[in-house]
Amino acid sequence: MNLSGMQIFKYLPAAKKAEHTNCKTCGFSTCMAFAIKLAQNQTTFDKCPYMPDELKAVCQKNMKVPQKTVKIGDATVGGENVLYRHEKTFVNKTAIGVILDCNSPDFEQKLERIKEFEITRVNEVMKVDFVITKNGAVDGTILYEDFEKLPLIKLQDDDVTLEKLIEIRKKAVVERDEEFSNPVCVFMKSDEKTCARAALYLCKYANALVFEDFDESLFATLMTLRQNIFTDPQKPLQVEPKVYEFNNPDENSICFMTTNFALTYYAVAAELENLHIPSYLIVVPSDGMSVLTAWSAEKFTAKIVKKTLEKFDFKNRVKTRKIIIPGLLSEMKEELEQELDGFEIIVGTIDAYAISDFVKAM
Ligand code: SF4
Repeated sequence: MNLSGMQIFKYLPAAKKAEHTNCKTCGFSTCMAFAIKLAQNQTTFDKCPYMPDELKAVCQKNMKVPQKTVKIGDATVGGENVLYRHEKTFVNKTAIGVILDCNSPDFEQKLERIKEFEITRVNEVMKVDFVITKNGAVDGTILYEDFEKLPLIKLQDDDVTLEKLIEIRKKAVVERDEEFSNPVCVFMKSDEKTCARAALYLCKYANALVFEDFDESLFATLMTLRQNIFTDPQKPLQVEPKVYEFNNPDENSICFMTTNFALTYYAVAAELENLHIPSYLIVVPSDGMSVLTAWSAEKFTAKIVKKTLEKFDFKNRVKTRKIIIPGLLSEMKEELEQELDGFEIIVGTIDAYAISDFVKAM
C-alpha cells in the first residue's frame, strides 16, 4: 500500500465524523486501527463497507504487482516496487551478463575468463550472473533462443535508453500499468563510454545488463557500484560477531575490539592484517551499527561485551589481559574494566588508519 495510515484514515467515517464511525464491522475497534492495518497490508479494503469509491480505486490500483519477477539462469530480476531506494528498498540487484557467439574464434577463452571471474567485497562473492550463447548450446549458459522467450522488456543502448528506463519504471511503480510490469534488460553497446552508461542504467533502472564483450575491470566496477545501490538501507551491512585472528595469533597476542558493522570491521581488519604481527579482533554483536551509533543505541554495552567474551571463551583462550577498544568509546573504559574483571581496557585510535602508529608507540 502506497498510502500511509493517516492518508487512508482521512477517507474513513471517523475522520469525517460521519455515520458508522468506529462501527467495528471491519473487525477493528476503530477506523484508525483499520487504516493503520490497511496501510501495512495486514487487512483488505473490502472489510469496510463504508469506504468511499475514491479510496477503493486507490486500493485496487495498489493491489496490482508493480513489477514482475523473472529468472535469468540462476539470477532473479525485477520485483521492484519503489522509485527510490530510501522509500523502502530495492529488491533484486541488476543482473550483469554477457552474450557470446560460439562461432567466434575466442569463444572458449572468453568463456573461461568469465567462469574464473570472481570478486569479493564486504563479504559478498560476486560473479557474472549469466552467459547467453548464440549458435550453440553450452552447459551453464542460456541459449539465445531461450533468452528471447523470457518476459523481459528489451532495450538497446542508445541516446534515449535512460529516458525509457525511467519512464518504464514510473509506469510500473507509480501507475501500476501492467504493460510495463516486466523487468527491463538493456543490451549494451561497446565503446569508450560503455562503463559510464552502464553505471547510469544500473542506478536507473535496468534490471539486467547484457554486454557483447567481457571486460574484468568493467564488471568489477559495475558490481562494486551495484553492491552499494542494492544495499537495504534498513539493514546495515554486517559481519559475523566472533573473534577474528590475524597473522596466526597465540595466547600472548594483542587484542582489539570493535562492532560488527561491516565497513568498520573491514577497515580495522585490513590494518591488522597489514601490521604483520599476530593479533585478535573481538567483534561484538551490535546490529551492524558503527561504533558511536551502537554505543548511543545501547547496542555496545559492557554487558554485551562481557557476554561476547564468555561466548567465545576468550579469557581461557588468551593470557593477554589487555583489550584495545575504539578511541570513540573512551567513555566506556571504566565501565568495561568493572564488568570484565581482570581485563585492562586500553583506549585505541579513533580512525583505523592510525592503528599501525598506535601499536608501534605501545
Ligand atoms: Fe471504520 Fe469502516 Fe471499520 Fe466501521 S468498518 S470501524 S467505518 S473502518
